[in-house]
Amino acid sequence: ATPTALMVGTGRGAQLGILIKGPEVLETTRRADTVVLDKTGTVTTGEMTLLAVHLAEGTAREEALRLAGALENASEHPIAQAVARGAEREHGTLPVPEDFANVPGLGVQGVVEGHAVLVGREKLLREWAMELPPALAAAKEEAERAGRTAIAVAWDGEARAVLEVADAVKPSSAGAVRRLRALGLTPVLLTGDNRAVAESVAAEVGIPADDVIAEVMPEDKVGVVKRLQGEGRSVAMVGDGVNDAAALAQADLGLAMGTGTDAAIEAGDLTLVRGDLRSAADAIRLSRRTLGTIK
Ligand code: ADP
Ligand code: MG
Repeated sequence: ATPTALMVGTGRGAQLGILIKGPEVLETTRRADTVVLDKTGTVTTGEMTLLAVHLAEGTAREEALRLAGALENASEHPIAQAVARGAEREHGTLPVPEDFANVPGLGVQGVVEGHAVLVGREKLLREWAMELPPALAAAKEEAERAGRTAIAVAWDGEARAVLEVADAVKPSSAGAVRRLRALGLTPVLLTGDNRAVAESVAAEVGIPADDVIAEVMPEDKVGVVKRLQGEGRSVAMVGDGVNDAAALAQADLGLAMGTGTDAAIEAGDLTLVRGDLRSAADAIRLSRRTLGTIK
């Protein structure tokens, strides 16, 4: 393509809400045949709500929400915010944790009012040799079958609650997936979340279960992209989180949601300013048009 065509393409991109890091990016955009979509915050709104609280025998709802809410209040994760806001709604101001640490892809851990508290995936509890009692394990399974994310809460060495949070699919996501497919790309859903939740979101946007890669730790997302590239695919990746940055950089084309974190935006080749997945399809069409593949 001529420099003029590239400049025009870049300018048209800006009008469409697509910020392109350099004109050469249009060339890789055109070649992509697989588009890996992060789930939370990309396909879904990322705005989660606390929907239900399941308690172990003898556990008080107020204490579970206060301890879990206090710890999650120190995290910016969408799940954490749902738990903190839900706890505040019921019980008002939350205590400030004496100690706090993020455990990427698993949850949070810390100390609240003298109690050692864990909030996150069951896997996080298992790392501390704790298990959900049968009634809570059943509640978790049922929540996940319904497409919700189940979060375990433990303190002082015992699993004591399961919280259900859910996140809505963005209204534009299904149409965007259809358009990406019509452009000849294969959409793949990638997430750290549970397989059942991931498949339920995938079904809602028209991605078959075979193209869902779930329960992937943040540091392994980049490995998934490498594996697809190893199969000879040219991979575009769309993401929003800190945990997507390495995968966005590894992908042949990284598309960052403009509504996402700075780390993702810095790692991407393209920014979808409106945080709308339809812009990913616009970007592919634009590059093909600019480079003369389609009229
Ligand atoms: P995604 O890949 O969908 O953006 P993450 O890698 O951020 O998801 O998180 C993966 C999973 O780890 C979540 O679905 C959740 O079960 C758990 N998790 C991560 N952070 C937290 C947190 N602060 N509180 C509770 N659970 C968490
Ligand atoms: Mg995300």
